[in-house]
Amino acid sequence: MMMQRTRTRSMAVLRMAPMLALALALTALQAQAAPESPGMSPLADQDLRLARIGYRIAVQNADRCPFPDRLTGLLLHDRAAYDERDRTLIAARFGLGNGFGVRDVIEGSAADRAGIRRGDEIVALNGSEMASFAVGLIGRTASYDRIDAFETLLSRTLQQGPATLELRRDGVPRTLQFPADLGCGGRWVVIPANAFNAWSDGHYVAVTSRLMTDIADDAELAFVVAHEMSHNILRHQEQLHGRSALLAQLGLGSARVKDTEIEADTLAVGLLARAGYDLGAPERFLVQAARKRPFDVPITHPGLKRRIGIVTAEIARLQLHPSTATVAPSNAAFGSEHARTVEPPAVTTPIALETID
Ligand SMILES: [Zn+2]
Repeated sequence: MMMQRTRTRSMAVLRMAPMLALALALTALQAQAAPESPGMSPLADQDLRLARIGYRIAVQNADRCPFPDRLTGLLLHDRAAYDERDRTLIAARFGLGNGFGVRDVIEGSAADRAGIRRGDEIVALNGSEMASFAVGLIGRTASYDRIDAFETLLSRTLQQGPATLELRRDGVPRTLQFPADLGCGGRWVVIPANAFNAWSDGHYVAVTSRLMTDIADDAELAFVVAHEMSHNILRHQEQLHGRSALLAQLGLGSARVKDTEIEADTLAVGLLARAGYDLGAPERFLVQAARKRPFDVPITHPGLKRRIGIVTAEIARLQLHPSTATVAPSNAAFGSEHARTVEPPAVTTPIALETID
């Protein structure tokens, strides 16, 4: 059956996801004294793969949001992201001080072009030392809150223009100017889970580690990501606020839910086209997803044949009228200062945030 999550639970999971990823990375680190793989663990590699795909889609479709997000291409970690008992080991392995370590850099991103490299540590932003930044958020147990606070600060700083970053690389300080890329559609996290699923919450796009593993083709994964980013761009989360999954399953209010899925599939094709992905991928993915979840009942989502028909029709339409792919939703405010600073209201009624089919 379809995966359903409460809004509040999903938000908590999304906020914890990078921390969970880091925790698993640490497990892998302890098992292997000197891992030679590019990332820290398979899950960290999944983080980079998802971010790479999401970044490409977001940047190529930046004009679809009136207030695009500032994207860096950085995947960060810090001491606070690990349990206190593990911090000494982590710091020694990664040369991590009291700033923010660069776990990875998306190729071709703003950070990459600025010369930031994996293993660098950000020690100051526009002259402010990071060692004392949000130290109140450093607790005994692992938390992503301090990184979250820094990323918010960095994004706001970059809205004003290029930032000056002071880095430490192999113990040697260096300073560089760092401009952001504009992007639209949200940020991306891998959720360690055995379910084959993905969902969005208005700002983040979450994909389970199982789906990441099962879908080896980046173009097919890109369709999943683009579908979720479309929900964020079109502000479906706000529109469906308070609509319960139970009512939807009873057929009450499900029409609008299905409409949002059709809209997300349609826009996703446009996002993929602009980002240069193989447009045969959506149909391939949908067929695979139907095989993996044969018992799902299309109550809140259109059925497989209808979804394939929707994406096929949109591909044909774009081929006839490619300029229409650039139309931005008129009411999209994702990425605006308002969207960033206002917490979504708590929802106690479970709602079907998203499933991939
Ligand atoms: Zn959807």
